[in-house]
Amino acid sequence: MKVFKFGGASVNSIARIKSLPDILRSYTHEKILIVISAMGKTTNALEKVAEAFYSQKNEIAIERFNQIKKDHLDIESGLDPLPSGSRSRLADFFTEIEWILHDKPVNGFDYYYDQIVSIGELLSTSIISDFLNRSGIPNQWMDVRDIFTTDDSFRSAKLDWQKTSAKIEAEVSSLFSEPNIVLTQGFIGSTDENENTTLGREGSDYSAAIFANLLDADDLTIWKDVEGIMNADPKTFPEAQFIRELDYDEVIEMAFYGAQVIHPKTIKPLQNKNIPLYVKCFLDPNLPGTKIHSKHVTRLPSIIVVKQNQTLIHLRSKDFSFVGEAGTARLYSILSRFQIQANLMQTGAVILYVCVDEDEEKIGKLAEEADTLFDVELEKGLTLLTVRHYRQEVLLSLIGSREIILQQWSRETVQTLLR
Ligand code: ASP
Ligand code: MG
Repeated sequence: MKVFKFGGASVNSIARIKSLPDILRSYTHEKILIVISAMGKTTNALEKVAEAFYSQKNEIAIERFNQIKKDHLDIESGLDPLPSGSRSRLADFFTEIEWILHDKPVNGFDYYYDQIVSIGELLSTSIISDFLNRSGIPNQWMDVRDIFTTDDSFRSAKLDWQKTSAKIEAEVSSLFSEPNIVLTQGFIGSTDENENTTLGREGSDYSAAIFANLLDADDLTIWKDVEGIMNADPKTFPEAQFIRELDYDEVIEMAFYGAQVIHPKTIKPLQNKNIPLYVKCFLDPNLPGTKIHSKHVTRLPSIIVVKQNQTLIHLRSKDFSFVGEAGTARLYSILSRFQIQANLMQTGAVILYVCVDEDEEKIGKLAEEADTLFDVELEKGLTLLTVRHYRQEVLLSLIGSREIILQQWSRETVQTLLR
């Protein structure tokens, strides 16, 4: 059994969707579970619908939603051979959302976000499943909300592994008896009360890894529009190099430091069962791609991760007393309470520094909470440069003439906060 994941960019146009049958035809004798994201930028567009609805601008919400409907119907009609009666499932999903949009919000924003945004993957998978069935790739469409059971922390729902595993055993394995392919959604799930939930933005990679783990898959392949994993973002570094092989730990580190390669939660379910991950290019499936597995990989090029929009928070103890354990403990508890990730941290005698992603609301809450112990000052608009497997000359040329605000070195990694 294999698990494939196709991201939004791989299904963002008629031409790209039409290239799927060719990719899948090379695997006709395999059982494959396929996870597909919402098309292109649909999730962003649905977020805007949820926002308009929640601020009670129902007409704007409906107008925005109509555009999303039209985009999907246009794609569907552009796929040949012509669809026959496949529209009723789409119509049902549209109606689900329209019911909500004609009402008033009586629940929290995150709840509505999940009810609305989750339709993106339901639409894309319905359209693509029907298209593949018409194109000689028989497959069974599956509503992942019947399988992935989560808690009700909307927008960052936690999977109930036990319940989900039981459902996979009871319901998914039997789906593979006739067509070799089961096609379903990433990113979404459902509570015990049948409310839609989402696992966090870009969560489809993670969904695919959960399936791979629970189905004991031979491997997981994530299909992307790049050759594989690179040592830097090729949009910013044209000389970025392709990496043929990586170990799980390296990818976890890359994701932690902010490389937009794979959703950070993807690796653990694979690593736990020693399932290799391939990152391959759907534009040229013959390219080898990157293999990620447990074998320790040495002699890697310097891996470069750049995070923009960083804020450095200075926390100076009020009466110039030592920050000490109590002050540090207080900071950690605030970070954990507001779910703020510290991208870099440094402790001094009377001052603590913590570098975080710019987020006015969260930083405001942190500053307010810390106010009893610390004088708080912010430095905004900074850039955090992380280099793993650094070489002196690479580091120096990356920093150039920029001002270094803070720097931290370990054996593998250098982090430099720059203005
Ligand atoms: N469609 C969702 C998003 O754009 C999930 C994903 O693509 O992984 O965040
Ligand atoms: Mg995506």
